Order: sequence, then C-alpha cells, then structure tokens
Amino acid sequence: MIKYKTEEEIDIMREGGKIHAQILREVAKKIKAGIKTDALNDYAEKLIDEAGCVASFLGYQPYDAKKPYPASLCVSINEEIVHGIPNDGGGKILFEGDIVSLDLGLTYKGLITDAAITVPVGKINKETEDLVRATKEALDRGIVAMRLGGHVGDIGDAIMQTAMKYDFGIIEGLSGHGVGYDVHEEPFVPNRANRGEGPELKEGLVIAIEPMFSLGSRDIKKLSDGYTFVTRDKSLSAHFEHTVAMTKNGVEILTK
Ligand code: MG
Repeated sequence: MIKYKTEEEIDIMREGGKIHAQILREVAKKIKAGIKTDALNDYAEKLIDEAGCVASFLGYQPYDAKKPYPASLCVSINEEIVHGIPNDGGGKILFEGDIVSLDLGLTYKGLITDAAITVPVGKINKETEDLVRATKEALDRGIVAMRLGGHVGDIGDAIMQTAMKYDFGIIEGLSGHGVGYDVHEEPFVPNRANRGEGPELKEGLVIAIEPMFSLGSRDIKKLSDGYTFVTRDKSLSAHFEHTVAMTKNGVEILTK
C-alpha cells in the first residue's frame, strides 16, 4: 500500500532534504585520490550528528539480508553500483580516475529522505564522464516527466529514453521506491517502463528516483558482503537519486 504524506510531513521532509543535500555536497568535497571510504563515512556521520539528524541506513536490515547494514553512507566505486560498504575492513582507497557513488538516507524529525550523487576522483576519461552526465540527465528528465495525474511509468520511460539516446545500459533488478516513514516503501519506481503504466502521480506521493546506468552489462551480482551490487561484467556504473514529492502545486525535488 502506498503511504501518502500530508502537507505538514512534506514540509518536514523539505527541511530534512535541504540538510541532506548539504551533507552530500560537503562529503563530496572530501573526495580525492588517496582518501579511504571509511573516512567519508566518518565525516558524513559527524555532519549528520551536528545537524541533529539520524542516518537511516545504519542498522537497516532488508528482509533478505543476514546482517544489518553497518554504515551511515553507501560508497560504491566504479563497477560497484549501489550499497558499497565504506567501513568494511577499514575501507577502500580511492584512485585518480575512479567514480564514486555516495548514497545517503537521512532521518529528520522522524521522516526519511534518500539521495545519491556520483562524483569523479580527480580527472576521469571522456567515456566515464559521458556515463556520469547521462545518468544525471536521466534523473532530471525523469523528474521533468512527472505531473499530477501522470503515472510512475512516465518516469521510467524518460529514464529509458535517455539511456537509449546515449547507448548506455540500464541496470536491471534495482529501482526507485516510495520513501518517508521507511527507507523502502511502495511503489516501485522502475528505471525502465512505459508511459501511463503504474500508480498515479497524485498529491502526497513521495518517491526516490534513482537511475543507474553502466558502460556495459545490465546484469548485476551481489558480493559476498551481502550488500554491494556490482555489474556482472565489471563495467563502470553511475547512480543519481533524488527524493521527489507530488504536492498540490505539482512536482518538488526535496533533496536539492
Ligand atoms: Mg534509494
């Protein structure tokens, strides 16, 4: 069942979303060759604490996971698509030319927002730059495709068209989702869909939209840590995410 949010709840999520975007920007500034992923997680935790918020992913346990997620931030490097664990064994070192997805769930006054950005480490090659830019464009186009009375499928259609335009793979088996009271709520927000399909976009709907593109395969594999998803062919992947609300005035990005 979709849990629609009240205007007051969306007001809170808007406030939380602003803090959220600010934290992601601050953590992104720390990214450079030589830094370890657990340092990024530590820094995110410090900022979350200072803002009086709670990390929504820390201790979160999906129904199919054997252990709770051990970090506040997901840090996914290169072929890692999502849910990379930054503090496993002291973390991983970032190298020049890598791309890193930072994915954060933030609880503010009891309500959760979800957002992610992909950040280059130093100078990246042209193909990688194109992948990152196209994935960001897909998120923007997915949001632009939303209107009151439209459908969730309109978003996936716009994302799919963007992938086709640049000939990148859309990662299969991972999708956007409702968000707010819980990290993952209904509805599914697929990155591959047809216009007019799925639930109606109506007032109070709050969803996380998260296109994930790869340079190669769409197929995914979960690593033995139980969380990290990678592309099966180890091709690079990029990921961007915003929490977006339908209000009586139309579409609003909450995590900007
Ligand atoms: Mg998400």
